[in-house]
Amino acid sequence: AYDVLIVGGGPAGAAAAVYAARKGIRTGVAAERFGGQVNDTLAIENFVSVMETEGPKFAAALESHVRAYDVDIMNLQRAKKLVPASEPGGLVSIELENGGVLKSRSVILSTGARWRNVNVPGEQEYKNKGVAYCPHCDGPLFKGKRVAVIGGGNSGVEAAIDLAGIVKHVSLLEFGEQLRADAVLVAKLKSLPNVTIYTMAQTTELTGDGNKLNGIRFTDRTTNESKHVELEGVFVQIGLVPNTEWIKGTVELSKHGEIVVDAKGQTNLPGVFAAGDVTTVPYKQIIIATGEGAKAALSAFDYLIRTPAP
Ligand code: FAD
Repeated sequence: AYDVLIVGGGPAGAAAAVYAARKGIRTGVAAERFGGQVNDTLAIENFVSVMETEGPKFAAALESHVRAYDVDIMNLQRAKKLVPASEPGGLVSIELENGGVLKSRSVILSTGARWRNVNVPGEQEYKNKGVAYCPHCDGPLFKGKRVAVIGGGNSGVEAAIDLAGIVKHVSLLEFGEQLRADAVLVAKLKSLPNVTIYTMAQTTELTGDGNKLNGIRFTDRTTNESKHVELEGVFVQIGLVPNTEWIKGTVELSKHGEIVVDAKGQTNLPGVFAAGDVTTVPYKQIIIATGEGAKAALSAFDYLIRTPAP
């Protein structure tokens, strides 16, 4: 059995593994895809002290940092169930999709999240070529250009306000009759001179020239007319889905499906901690996920030295 078993090998899981291994305790990481979401991006310019890097390069660096320590890395392993310890201080079990069962005195859940896609033609083709999901990450790449934000909830409206300060013009597209964001945000958005709001707008296509994005096509659901706006970037803001389907009913989740953690990364289950995008901790960013991963590992270590095995 492990002392610490980390489920998920993104920035949070990798940081947790390094911190746990440095305590000299038996550490394992089971991950479906080591590196996590950073594999899907190109430029990373906000991990402080690293001026500029690329996603796959950053993911490889995470893995080699973990491999520098005595950590069991179990890559391409998908967890399907968590069974809590049957007695205080007992072993927590993680059942894998391949039938295997891993046991550990403490577990850190860092299975991350995924951006909901709009699923229209052009979205996959122009990902990282104009189609973006994270305004804090990619906003500055569109300085002085025209962009659209899809989604009129809080995250879409926040993104539009944020981007309006950087880019030349923002079009905000909302499917429903009105924006669903908090009134104070909507008022702020409406006060901005370089924003156009389209409601009853159903995105139908992200258009491009074969190399990069050049516009967005949508149906005006009031008139049934198809419209096309020329632009250089589209931010999809229709939800970030935490990867917690497999622990529903076992670990306490928020109404958005995020694992509820306290300031030490502790979940509602003894010996079970969580870190990164999968948790209720706000602002889903690499630097935050790594900090939270380190914190969860230190909390797990603290738990281990205070909790005698039965
Ligand atoms: P993730 O990176 O999501 O990793 C989750 C890990 O869990 C993966 O290893 C996954 O395979 C594994 N996993 C999931 N389910 C299971 C399961 N059931 N069993 C086993 N393993 C499982 N942030 C920035 O700070 N700067 C940027 O420039 C930036 N750009 C981004 C660009 C894009 C396109 C995207 C999508 C995100 C970007 N982000 C950026 C956000 C950043 O990638 C995330 O905040 C960060 O990766 C979160 O780390 P994490 O470890 O919590 O989760």
